[in-house]
Amino acid sequence: MNPGDNSRKRIYSAIQPSGQLTLGNYLGALRNFPKLQDDYDCVYCIANMHSLTVRQDPAELRERIYSLLALYLACGLDPDKNTLYLQSHVHEHAELAWILNCYTYIGELSRMTQFKDKSSKHADNINAGLFTYPVLMAADILLYRSDFVPIGQDQKQHLEIARDIADRFNRLYGETFVIPNPLIKRQGAKIMSLQEPDRKMSKSDPNASNFVLITESPDSIMKKFKKAVTDSEAEVRYDEENKPGVSNLINIYGAVTEKSAIEVEKEFSGARYGEFKTAVGQAVVDALAPIREKYGELMNDRAYLDKVMSEGREKASAIAAATLRDVYGRVGFVL
Ligand code: ATP
Ligand code: MG
Repeated sequence: MNPGDNSRKRIYSAIQPSGQLTLGNYLGALRNFPKLQDDYDCVYCIANMHSLTVRQDPAELRERIYSLLALYLACGLDPDKNTLYLQSHVHEHAELAWILNCYTYIGELSRMTQFKDKSSKHADNINAGLFTYPVLMAADILLYRSDFVPIGQDQKQHLEIARDIADRFNRLYGETFVIPNPLIKRQGAKIMSLQEPDRKMSKSDPNASNFVLITESPDSIMKKFKKAVTDSEAEVRYDEENKPGVSNLINIYGAVTEKSAIEVEKEFSGARYGEFKTAVGQAVVDALAPIREKYGELMNDRAYLDKVMSEGREKASAIAAATLRDVYGRVGFVL
């Protein structure tokens, strides 16, 4: 099928190569992607420009770019059916971000919870990129005239600002951008940290006990689940407010085994926490094993990964160039 086919609605999603991918990224994003590839025209970005908002080691960043591409593929994305590309390969992202910066207000950006959260985590490096991150994200989405953006709860606010910016621009210059809609899957939409279950699981978290990686060894995954924070009761019951740790484990188990929270509670009624945690760990290990194997094979074939990236660059550039040209014309730039 031709990914540029206009009869199908377009889905856009991006993940930053800012760390290795976690179970949260898998359940909140990656796992849902292959299900979409036959019905939608899907564009998946490796958002390396976004990841510079936090300091990165260059050699590691380069490696993680390949790693993220390999994970996209290992999770079942077919490069012939989807567009898989690297953000910095398509210069239109930076150019449209500049334009959109001029249609975004400081007040709007100041309300973003990710900015507040990341500035407190990286107090020594509160750079302007961290602040304008949502504008680059809006440029990503709008460049591809995306209809839908699958996101976890954490990105809801950023999608809303992208919609507001698009709408503002359209009102000033006529219908230019497609207003994107969020696709949020309820289960697995927000996986929390294993040690601090009031914070979301994040791949850039400096404390490795807080997350489980998609490619982590079964032993290490089991250890982390056994150590996961629960509470002083001894009841597997879903109660996000009073039992955030246990509720997170119920969410994880439910998402992986495709069971509702009520079914999970029933399955573990009377069970000890130790038993429950082992079962959650095992379910996660089983779900991730085939991906880990495929990932290992792909990482050993750089030539193939380069080929996929270069094909993606061409497909993505063609779409992005047309949108940017339209925008430049509308704001009054000489083309
Ligand atoms: P970072 O800490 O660098 O921001 P991250 O883990 O939040 O990393 P992103 O690259 O920001 O990952 O997001 C990638 C995708 O994963 C997005 O669709 C996001 O909504 C989703 N996602 C991120 N964290 C979680 C989570 N804890 N639960 C569910 N989905 C998540
Ligand atoms: Mg994030």
